[in-house]
Amino acid sequence: MKILVTGGAGFIGSHVADALVAAGHQVVVVDNLHTGHRENVPDAATFHQVDIRDREALARVFEQEQIQAISHQAALANVRASMEDPITYAEVNVIGSLHLLELAKAHGCHKFVFASTGGAVYGEGYSEDGSRLPFTEESWPHPKDNYGANKLSFEYHLDLYYQNFGQKYVALRYPNVYGPRQDSRGEAGVVAIFTAAMLRGEPTKITGDGKQTRDFTYVEDIARANLLALESDAVGIYNVGTGVPTDINTIHRILAQLTGYTLEPEYVPQPVGEVRATYLDSSKARRDLGWEPQVSLEEGLRRTVEWFRAQLAQG
Ligand code: NAD
Repeated sequence: MKILVTGGAGFIGSHVADALVAAGHQVVVVDNLHTGHRENVPDAATFHQVDIRDREALARVFEQEQIQAISHQAALANVRASMEDPITYAEVNVIGSLHLLELAKAHGCHKFVFASTGGAVYGEGYSEDGSRLPFTEESWPHPKDNYGANKLSFEYHLDLYYQNFGQKYVALRYPNVYGPRQDSRGEAGVVAIFTAAMLRGEPTKITGDGKQTRDFTYVEDIARANLLALESDAVGIYNVGTGVPTDINTIHRILAQLTGYTLEPEYVPQPVGEVRATYLDSSKARRDLGWEPQVSLEEGLRRTVEWFRAQLAQG
């Protein structure tokens, strides 16, 4: 298939592009390079530097390339920034996404796969006695920020295009994704932030008591979920996480061992609104997509540290 990967110069999108190329698909990447890097795009892919807010430019890409399916990864994805600039966030994450959905419909695309988010869509996870955890696709969505509201809102658009026009879609609700190429200057990529700081011997900070838990999932597993979703006939919303909660202190400890870091982290106050616990039940993806995470946390962190070490050595 000829598949458009938006955000294919970014962290997750570039791994999706790699996985699709490896599976024998033709890949077209659209990215405005806001946070992405041209060198992340695989050589086998065609690249268009286009902003998804630019409807005419996107339409030209669809005409020129005869796109058959879409993996939509492009987004503004900073939770805090989404509270400061809700309009731009909606313009990119909702209107930009709608441009793509309209074009998918007009060109009879086989499938629209969307990078959604478990963390920001489900919101607060509650207690250890399991009142809301792990989240399933039936859990009540309760975004706490504009970014989460953008993602949830576009999920509704996808579903109504399916109901009205038969446009098939899969919304993949990602957990905390980590791995090579993640931006260590990002807001939420704690693995990338710790790894880069530790390899440079710089201090690290943990918010709150570090016992807040997340579902850390390796980026190649997420890329494979996109491949399976594109190739399958499944339609709907799918969690794609390990289902294993890991706290931030544990991530810090494993990364310290892998990098030989000996400094203690500094504990700083938790920002308002930070979720205490979140992890995903992905049995629906296992059943319908045949997806299961394959890379253990230790192995994924080891590969990530190797990549950051090589980057640092290159300067
Ligand atoms: P990223 O910033 O590395 O990738 C986003 C890409 O989109 C970048 O290459 C950026 O240049 C591009 N982009 C941004 N605005 C654009 C625009 N207007 N037009 C064209 N391209 C634009 O971030 P990522 O972590 O790889 O995120 C990829 C997707 O996964 C996003 O949709 C994000 O919301 C979602 N997601 C990520 C995580 C995570 O843990 N990283 C978790 C949940 C969901």
